[in-house]
Amino acid sequence: MVFENLSEKLQNALGKLTGKGKLSEKDVDIAMREVRLALLEADVNFKVVKNFTKNVKERAIGNEVMQSLTPGQQVIKIVNDELTKLMGDKEVKIAFASSPPTIILMCGLQGAGKTTTTGKLAYNLKKQNKRPLLVACDIYRPAAIKQLEVVGEKVDVPVFSMGNKHDPVDIAKAAIEHGKKHGNDVIIIDTAGRLHIDENLMEEIENIKNIVKPNEILLVLDAMTGQDAVNVAESFDDKLGITGVVLTKLDGDARGGAALSIRAVTDKPIKFVGMGEKFDQLEPFHPDRMASRILGMGDVLGLIEKAQANIDAEKAMELEKKIRSAQFTFEDFLDQLEQMRNLGPLDQIIGMIPGMNSKALKGLEVSEKEIGHIEAIIKSMTKKERENPEIIDSSRRKRIANGSGTSVQEVNKLLKQFKETKKMMKRFGEMEKTMKKKGKFG
Ligand code: GDP
Repeated sequence: MVFENLSEKLQNALGKLTGKGKLSEKDVDIAMREVRLALLEADVNFKVVKNFTKNVKERAIGNEVMQSLTPGQQVIKIVNDELTKLMGDKEVKIAFASSPPTIILMCGLQGAGKTTTTGKLAYNLKKQNKRPLLVACDIYRPAAIKQLEVVGEKVDVPVFSMGNKHDPVDIAKAAIEHGKKHGNDVIIIDTAGRLHIDENLMEEIENIKNIVKPNEILLVLDAMTGQDAVNVAESFDDKLGITGVVLTKLDGDARGGAALSIRAVTDKPIKFVGMGEKFDQLEPFHPDRMASRILGMGDVLGLIEKAQANIDAEKAMELEKKIRSAQFTFEDFLDQLEQMRNLGPLDQIIGMIPGMNSKALKGLEVSEKEIGHIEAIIKSMTKKERENPEIIDSSRRKRIANGSGTSVQEVNKLLKQFKETKKMMKRFGEMEKTMKKKGKFG
C-alpha cells in the first residue's frame, strides 16, 4: 500500500488524541514528537519536518482547538491541511500551449522510469483526444530508441527517430517540424538519462531546451529513492528550471519521503504519479486526496473517478437487477470480478476506502490470492455449468479442481457459498417485495 509505514505511524500518533475530551499543550507536544519521528523515518527532508510540526503545533494549541468539543479531531484536520499544503495544495495540470503543438521535454536519471512514463503520458493524452508524437533523443544507449519505439507501438502513438548518428538538438528540431506537418498537437521529447548527474547530460538537455522552448520540462523521479530523488530534483531545477515532477513507483513506496519533500524543497509541483508498470497507471497528483489517504480518511473522489472510467454503468445496472431477482450466475460473478480487477490492484483500491488502513489490509493479503483461485475455478467450468451450477457432479468437481490448479475442497466451498448467497438474495428480494407492499421500503 502506498505510504503504508508512514500512514500507520501517523495514524497511531494522532489516534491517541482523539479519545480525549480535553487536550493539554503537553498532549500535543507528545503527539508532535511522534509525528516528527514518523516523518523522519519516512525519509522526509528534516527542514521540511521541522517546519511542518512547528506549523501544526502553532495552530493546534490555539484557543479554538483546545476549547472545542473534539480537540483531537481538530488536530487531525490541521495535520491534514498542513500535509496538503506541503504537497502543493491543488492539482497542477499540464500547461498546454495556446497555439499547438505543446512541447514537453522529459528528463531524469536512468532507471527512474522515464521511457515508461513517456508512454504513459502519451496514453493519457490520447484519452484526452490529443494527438501526441514521441521523439527519441537518447542516442547513447542503442536500446533506448528501440524501447521508445516499442512503447509507442503499445500505446499506438507515432515515434519520431533519426537513429543515433545525429545531434539530439537536430533531432528535436526535425521532430517538431515533422509534428507540425502531421497535425501532432503534443510533442513529447525523451532525452538521454545517465546514472549520475553530469555536466554533459545537463548541457545537452539545456541545448535542446534553448532550441525547442518547451512548454513543460518534466523531471521523472523514482519515489523509492527518497531524499536522493529530492537532491536530483534540486540539481535539475537549478540547471534547467523544471516545470514539474512525475514521481514514479509510488505503488511500491511505503515511506513517502520524496512525495512529501519535493514541493517544499524545490517549489515545483508533482504533476503525476506512477502507480504501476502498466500504461494506464499514471495518475494526476492531488495533494488533498493524497493527504487524506495518508491519514486513513480514504480518497473517495479518486475511487469514484476510477470507477467511472472503468466500470460499465449499463452492466452494473443489469447486475443489480439480477441480484435483486436472485438470477445471479457464476457468469455474472466472473464479470463482476473482472470489473473489479479493472479498477487496479486490490491493495491500491482498498487504500482509497475511508477507514481502511494497513492493519485492515493485512487480513486482505490472502484475499487477492483467494480471488485468483475463485476466478480460476469459475473459468474451468463450462458455460452451462456457470449458468446452472447444480449440474456439477463429483467427477466434474474433480476435473474443475484439476483444471484450475485448486482442490476439490475449494471447489466445493465455492459452490456451497454461492448457493447460500443465492438463497440469501432470494430471501432479501422477497423481504423487499413484502416491505414495499406494506409501504415500508424504497
Ligand atoms: P528509464 O531508464 O528512466 O527510461 O526507465 P524505464 O522506463 O525503462 O523504467 C525502469 C523500470 O521501472 C521498468 O522496469 C519499469 O517498468 C519500471 N517502472 C516505471 N514506472 C513505474 C511505476 O510507476 N511503478 C512501478 N512499479 N514500476 C515502474
